[in-house]
Amino acid sequence: MRNPLSGRTLYIPQMSLEGSACMAAAFRSIGVQAQPAPEATTATYQLAKKYLSGDECLPEAVTLGSLLQITQQPGYDPAKTAVMMPTSNGPCRFGHYLPLLRKVFSQRGEDEVLLFSPSSTDGYADIGAHARELVRTGWRAVVASDILRKLLFSTRPYELQPGASDAVYRRSLDLLCEAIATPQVSQRKRLQRMVAALETILADFSAIAQDRTRPRLLIGVVGEIFCRLDEFSNDQLVRTVEKFGGEVWMSDVSEWVWYTSDEAEKRLIRTGRRCSFSMLGEKIKNSIMAADEHRLLQPFHQAFKKYPEPRHIGEILQLSRPYLPREGAHGEMVISLGKAIWYHHHGVRGVIDISPFTCMNGIVCEAVYPRVSRDLNGFPLRVLYFDGLRSRIETEVEIFMELARNYHS
Ligand code: SF4
Repeated sequence: MRNPLSGRTLYIPQMSLEGSACMAAAFRSIGVQAQPAPEATTATYQLAKKYLSGDECLPEAVTLGSLLQITQQPGYDPAKTAVMMPTSNGPCRFGHYLPLLRKVFSQRGEDEVLLFSPSSTDGYADIGAHARELVRTGWRAVVASDILRKLLFSTRPYELQPGASDAVYRRSLDLLCEAIATPQVSQRKRLQRMVAALETILADFSAIAQDRTRPRLLIGVVGEIFCRLDEFSNDQLVRTVEKFGGEVWMSDVSEWVWYTSDEAEKRLIRTGRRCSFSMLGEKIKNSIMAADEHRLLQPFHQAFKKYPEPRHIGEILQLSRPYLPREGAHGEMVISLGKAIWYHHHGVRGVIDISPFTCMNGIVCEAVYPRVSRDLNGFPLRVLYFDGLRSRIETEVEIFMELARNYHS
């Protein structure tokens, strides 16, 4: 069967640059011409608004704007363009992204744009013979991009020369993508290349001139995955925290992947398939994922000592249980709350929960955080809402940092 992507450029929507660039590299490793979608800007957001009713959440609008920017690039040809857009069921508006995109491209007379929505339910049939290979490389890409982000956030606040960490980050991202995208190598060889690239990247970050004598407040950042990662959507929150004397420890994307895997197992148990081939498949998949993650993280044992992550997502869900049990509350709210408590137990001085305006996750967490904070002796926990309009983020962060400082002292 002909690969539907052949002859097209596949654009990967951006949550973070490193995430979509590494995922695009994973697609290139199986011969698909892929690249990250353009970065979101105020102009792209305004562009999207022309097609929106106002019911859409911020990530939906920002994603649409970024993708519409493709249509303004020189040489744009709908017949040679594809956009990756997975979908989901449930109350989250993520399931609405794909129909919205279809409607907008159709309205513009650009139905030929291929909306590529691979799904695990059909074994990623759209990807063809390379599906398994891609899924594994894609997972490694997620882990590697988490590592790169963590390196950036743990170095930039201490750099002596402004901009040095961002410059190393850009170079590192190219190096990492090159390793991921190498075509026609075995999975073992690809992993070796990625580890070698990550070792070089670690050395490059370590070589940045830094002053670690000035103490900084460690601030945990949780919340809605898109808004948390996208600098435009969160109004550069990480840089603002750094400006006011903080260092950010942000929840990884891999955390969400582990949560969905764990939920899949729980679903099998609920439906009486504890001992089934499906469960066996889940277990095997999870052990391969864990082994790859472990190998990629190995060089960072020392560098990430200050930022321990749970050995299993169940530890996070257990922490949130007294407030939001996983059986009653689903998705990011459970992880954000559990992770906020995890941060408290691991040296963090305050937690910011990033939420798009009107998103249920942030609203639920905001209702529960006062009780959590009381139980943790006044631990600062704050939901910050974003709606794409420039807000008073600086003032809010400055006040929050003061709270965290007081809590610390
Ligand atoms: S979690 Fe909230 S903000 Fe994110 S896609 Fe779903 S509805 Fe939108």
